[in-house]
Amino acid sequence: MTSRNEELFTRAQRTIPGGVNSPVRAFRSVGGTPRFLKKASGARVWDADGKEYLDYVGSWGPAILGHADPVVVEAVRAAALDGLSFGAPTEREIDMAERLCELLPSMEMVRLVSSGTEATMSAIRLARGFTGRDAIVKFEGCYHGHADSLLVKAGSGLLTFGNPSSAGVPDDFAKHTLVLDYNNPAALEEIFQARGSEIACVIIEPIAGNMNLVKPSAEFMHLLRRLCTEHGAVLIFDEVMTGFRVGPRGVQGLFGITPDLTTLGKVIGGGMPVGAFGGRRDIMQKIAPLGAVYQAGTLSGSPVAVAAGLASLDQISKPGFYELLTARTTRLVDGLKASAAKHGVGFTADSVGGMFGLYFAQAVPQSYADVMASDKDSFNRFFHAMLDAGHYFAPSAFEAGFVSAAHAEADIDSTIGAADAWFAANGR
Ligand SMILES: *Cc1c(COP(=O)(O)O)cnc(C)c1O
Repeated sequence: MTSRNEELFTRAQRTIPGGVNSPVRAFRSVGGTPRFLKKASGARVWDADGKEYLDYVGSWGPAILGHADPVVVEAVRAAALDGLSFGAPTEREIDMAERLCELLPSMEMVRLVSSGTEATMSAIRLARGFTGRDAIVKFEGCYHGHADSLLVKAGSGLLTFGNPSSAGVPDDFAKHTLVLDYNNPAALEEIFQARGSEIACVIIEPIAGNMNLVKPSAEFMHLLRRLCTEHGAVLIFDEVMTGFRVGPRGVQGLFGITPDLTTLGKVIGGGMPVGAFGGRRDIMQKIAPLGAVYQAGTLSGSPVAVAAGLASLDQISKPGFYELLTARTTRLVDGLKASAAKHGVGFTADSVGGMFGLYFAQAVPQSYADVMASDKDSFNRFFHAMLDAGHYFAPSAFEAGFVSAAHAEADIDSTIGAADAWFAANGR
């Protein structure tokens, strides 16, 4: 540990709550002092002391091309010279909308916002406005940003409405949110049986990345689609993390399921603040100024942010991009698993596209309960050893990790090498 990060953390805590502008950055889950980053390039980041790390956080997903990608940076520079924000429509926003609708065929119309939270919050309001219903369904362990109706955890029984998971969320809001077990078909059937006609929408991370990485079964996902259709509920895929991260068509492409609405963020902004929600034309036409559901944003469709997004989408749409990204991620996951097995460490890992999960557990988790049962202390020790060795993983056992196209095979191998040393020292 070096002094400059500690100095900055002490100073930050005087004027910023917890010293951070988003809680997970504070290292509360793993303990210790967060690294204040001052520079990033490709697969690497540098902290306030000038220490270099191979980065597996990637700004929590956006940095799919690697940091400060030259094409994206040039697009931002060029756009900035023409003005930072107009509050009037621009041609570039049409390019972005057309591109998103082309890449995700479930999207017939799309609206741009400035964060994932805004996208999910707006999609839920839209689903409620479209159906005239109040109840929404979400799943334990899925994160959809910090809007009031989404900061809700399971109530005492399956068929009771949820409880706030944050202070400041009125019970009167939380009571409209039903929280179910992820990946549990029986619970889903039961809720639709009991309350199907009250449900405005179901929102889901179609591959969960906010409780480490958890993949649902195809059976569960197809059942979800069928029940929403049968009961007139809007199916919202929250692909803020998975969109253009797991593959060129998101999780919807992998499962071959068409959601009614999709929310996007992270990758589509290329590191700038861009979110989006879109889907069925008949639903999207309910938004103002066409319809009665209000939604707006002073900086929505920011010319600079959209330029970054378009420059990113251009590059990830090139042939072979996902093959390379997937190969790099698989190399990491396979290398770590082989090393842990060799040294008898209870560890496994999984991945999809450029996203991965590390689990101090015997098997890949299938549910929130499985994730919670993993060995958090071992993760925390592993995390700090890797950080000291210059490998920056997410500072929590309950977050997914990210590989970028800028991670060379040699980078991945050096990370596997560092992990191998730790597994050797901590195995049987
Ligand atoms: C990150 C994330 C959000 C929230 O996006 P912000 O840009 O942080 O507001 C919503 N849903 C999912 C699945 C996410 O991973």
